[in-house]
Amino acid sequence: MQTDYLVIGAGVTGICVARELKQRHPAASVVVIDKESGCARHSSGRNSGVLEAGFAWSSDTLAGRFCRAGNEELSSYCEQKGLPVNRCGELVVARDGDELSALDRLARRAEGNGIEFSRLDASEAEKAEPRARTHQQALLFPSSAVVDPGGVARRMEQDARDAGVRFLYEDSYLGRAGEDLITTRGTVQAGYVVNCAGLNADRIARDFGAAANYRLLPVKYLYLESAGVPGSYRTHIGAAADYLQGPWPGVRLLLGADGRARLGPAIKPALWREQYRGAEGFQPFEMSSILALSLGQMFQGGSGVCKLCAARLKGSARSRLVAAGARLAEGINRNDYRDWSRAEIQPQLVNTETHRLEEDFIIERGDSSIHLLNGISPLFTCSMPLARHICDQIEQ
Ligand SMILES: Cc1cc2nc3c(=O)[nH]c(=O)nc-3n(C[C@H](O)[C@H](O)[C@H](O)COP(=O)(O)OP(=O)(O)OC[C@H]3O[C@@H](n4cnc5c(N)ncnc54)[C@H](O)[C@@H]3O)c2cc1C
Repeated sequence: MQTDYLVIGAGVTGICVARELKQRHPAASVVVIDKESGCARHSSGRNSGVLEAGFAWSSDTLAGRFCRAGNEELSSYCEQKGLPVNRCGELVVARDGDELSALDRLARRAEGNGIEFSRLDASEAEKAEPRARTHQQALLFPSSAVVDPGGVARRMEQDARDAGVRFLYEDSYLGRAGEDLITTRGTVQAGYVVNCAGLNADRIARDFGAAANYRLLPVKYLYLESAGVPGSYRTHIGAAADYLQGPWPGVRLLLGADGRARLGPAIKPALWREQYRGAEGFQPFEMSSILALSLGQMFQGGSGVCKLCAARLKGSARSRLVAAGARLAEGINRNDYRDWSRAEIQPQLVNTETHRLEEDFIIERGDSSIHLLNGISPLFTCSMPLARHICDQIEQ
């Protein structure tokens, strides 16, 4: 097969980039390959669907730069297409007096990123979300919303098809042979390759001479689902300091597109890239290389990464998540939060030079190719403007 552009990965980023490329170059052929039998079978279909407001990321990050625009575009896209959007907003609380300075920092970040918010006193916060607990003040971000991520991705895929993008499923990228790409369906000659392969993006990037300084530390996220009536809460709720603690978010009470509440995330290591459930799809080679390389990096990283991992593993027990949730809102108890959601896996990268966990998306170029790495939250929210940014980079 020959194509002008080959996109690897039919998650939300691959779909958005393919669509944008076709819009910019109508005469060019754009093909998306994916190893699964349909689109959005990994992060894009399994994530929490939160359209993040964007206050948690500083303006010098790609996440901070694109979150507000991504939130606006994706929520209006959903409304235009008749897809459900729960515009619930997000209440950021202070658990005690010490956390008021974290509220101030978040307010400054929000101002820096041009995000609308209100500063509320305790009684105003109670009106916004009667069950939230806060100490003196809170911040309300009205643009935070939630959608059904799989439904959105499938609709985007249909739009891309209608625009002339070709999707080939059950077609895995396997490697390179000189200038050609080898996939399960045969050999591909591509003018330009865009790698949006999520959990495999770092591995594919290395074939093109990119991502040399990164190793994957796949991290499993799980949420406790509420057995309560959907609609019992009005807003997402989180604690100010938790948004500032690095790449792994603190415990939030999140609403679904249907209004159902969930608490989390619990964070656990994944022993291979797609270890969603038990030993299903066991990959012994991946497990040994992830343990050897990623855990080795963690220990070379010294106390910072190790302490963070240890603290998050400890805080991921059901009792601890419920206790953390009970500090955010009234009426959270163990009886209502018994069932775990299905697992989601984040392609977290460790930088082998700085020995730090990367906290932003990474875009690297290789020969005739571009690679989107470290596809962590809020990439779903940022997908539309980030796709334009990637296409600008390709054109430069
Ligand atoms: C637990 C969790 C919760 C999240 N919550 C949110 C949220 O609430 N809001 C938000 O904005 N963001 C969130 N995110 C981030 C967001 O979901 C993801 O970053 C985003 O969906 C990634 O999209 P993607 O297209 O880059 O990757 P993916 O959706 O993972 O797609 C990659 C695709 O590449 C394919 N692929 C992989 N290897 C190959 C190969 N060799 N050959 C062919 N195809 C291949 C896969 O099958 C897959 O379809 C969350 C992420 C996680 C993990």
